[in-house]
Amino acid sequence: MEDGFRMILEGMGEDPNREGLIDTPKRVAKMYAELMTSLTGEMKAEDILKTRFHEKYDEMIIVPDIQFASMCEHHFLPFTGKAHVAYIPGDCVVGLSKIPRVVEYYARMPQIQERMTRQIAELIQKVLQPKGVAVVLEASHMCMTMRGVKKPGAMMVTTQLLGRFKTDEKTRAEFMSRIYAPR
Ligand SMILES: [Zn+2]
Repeated sequence: MEDGFRMILEGMGEDPNREGLIDTPKRVAKMYAELMTSLTGEMKAEDILKTRFHEKYDEMIIVPDIQFASMCEHHFLPFTGKAHVAYIPGDCVVGLSKIPRVVEYYARMPQIQERMTRQIAELIQKVLQPKGVAVVLEASHMCMTMRGVKKPGAMMVTTQLLGRFKTDEKTRAEFMSRIYAPR
């Protein structure tokens, strides 16, 4: 990564040996190692939801406003925002911190927002087998705000609905009204 980034600097017309840049390739390599931890394969996504509690709770569980930062795989610029996740338990629930960790897991790899939204929903569906899952991601993309159309703050909203959230309009409406309600 260090050699590669030195070449990128040269390609830009920079001098990678000038004082301010001399240690930059090393710092960038270290930074990407931190930002892309899910690529190491050390942690499997399924393991995050390993600890489950059997609980007779069949109403919607909503975890709103989960902050995340990921990297757009098309331009390698960040996109940042928040995720809202909900599920209706089947026969088990997970601890409150686990859902944000799932979001974090899928953020720590080169991504596109649409796929990340789907991956979060599908993992929860697969491991917890709930009656439904809903995931909404709202994010601002640096590749839109810094270049191209240059619309500062331009937000993209993506949604993945599974199970009851997809088939039952009332369930979906309850979820949407709760995540967009003033808090
Ligand atoms: Zn992009």
